[in-house]
Amino acid sequence: MGVPFRRTKAIIDTKALQQNCRNMHAFAPASKVLATVKADAYGHGALTVARALQGCAEQLGVAFIDEALDLRQAGIELPIVLLDGCFSEAELDLCCQHHFIPVIHNTEQVQELLAATLAKSLVVWLKLDTGMHRLGLNSTDFQKALEQLTASKNVSQVIAMTHFADADNTASDYTSVQLAQFDRVLENYPDIPCSVANSAGLAHWPAARREWLRSGLLLYGVTPNPDLPAPFAITPVMTLTAPVIAVRDIPAGAYVGYGCRWQARRPSRIATLAIGYGDGYPRHASDGTPVWLHGREVPLVGRVSMDMITVDITDMAEVAIGDEAELWGQNLSVHEVAQKCDTISYELLTRVSPRVPREII
Ligand SMILES: *Cc1c(COP(=O)(O)O)cnc(C)c1O
Repeated sequence: MGVPFRRTKAIIDTKALQQNCRNMHAFAPASKVLATVKADAYGHGALTVARALQGCAEQLGVAFIDEALDLRQAGIELPIVLLDGCFSEAELDLCCQHHFIPVIHNTEQVQELLAATLAKSLVVWLKLDTGMHRLGLNSTDFQKALEQLTASKNVSQVIAMTHFADADNTASDYTSVQLAQFDRVLENYPDIPCSVANSAGLAHWPAARREWLRSGLLLYGVTPNPDLPAPFAITPVMTLTAPVIAVRDIPAGAYVGYGCRWQARRPSRIATLAIGYGDGYPRHASDGTPVWLHGREVPLVGRVSMDMITVDITDMAEVAIGDEAELWGQNLSVHEVAQKCDTISYELLTRVSPRVPREII
């Protein structure tokens, strides 16, 4: 595809990404960084992010093997952890071939790995369920698997992991409870490298910084808890922008958009922006959701359409067709938008659709 005519775009700042990663290393110098690039790197473009992080992150993490194969086929050489693991011996073979590292999180996967005939031995991450209750072995199965896998010719190294359920909530001690359980089970295996912290664990729980950090959100320049300061300097990597494509004046009492959700209380000026739910801008955005235009926040008014949104620019004489608005990024935190849409930053970033060109800088 050539350069698109429509000017809506997601600007991806790879320098910011690299700096965030360097700052993360400086913040936790004893740890290595696994950068999670699942779901197209939270909407930033998995290949773009993987390329930019070569030489900075030590490993990549994806959810399933197809995501990893896409990266390999594009020439990415970093080891890639499969966070959901493998579901057949064929996938284990591909792990041997492509240097993928499966997470082993249930007893079926343990048995399959022990029984497989593999071309070489694999590094695996073995997951303990400490309270998320989604993936992971209970402590009895974990210890048994750890011993079996360590003894197996199919395994060259085991790394122990767990995942936090509530690490962005610093008022709760659930993370400490999970961590204590993890340490109790691993007590007898002091030589096993460990990975427990996601971004929130890294930010808020110093005791969670083990050999491997697993981080997505902080690398993408977004804090895991919007109410707390970032643990180190970060810059948002994605800035989503759209041009103004119409400006109109409407009288008091007039409605804007589908369903006549918003009604002008006073004579108002409305700007229409070329972005909508077809681009991944959340349809649930309520009236008042901030949009950044001409150096200030202006409120969204009326329902989000498939290709457009409308904002109230009354009292802003200077807005003209072609002006660029920011939906989130450098000037406007994606959290602020998420809060107005009853969702979280992860979902908004991940949902930016392929229809929006990524401009890589
Ligand atoms: C996605 C994922 C992470 C990264 O989470 P962030 O909150 O983005 O840092 C860490 N661990 C696992 C198992 C994940 O699936």
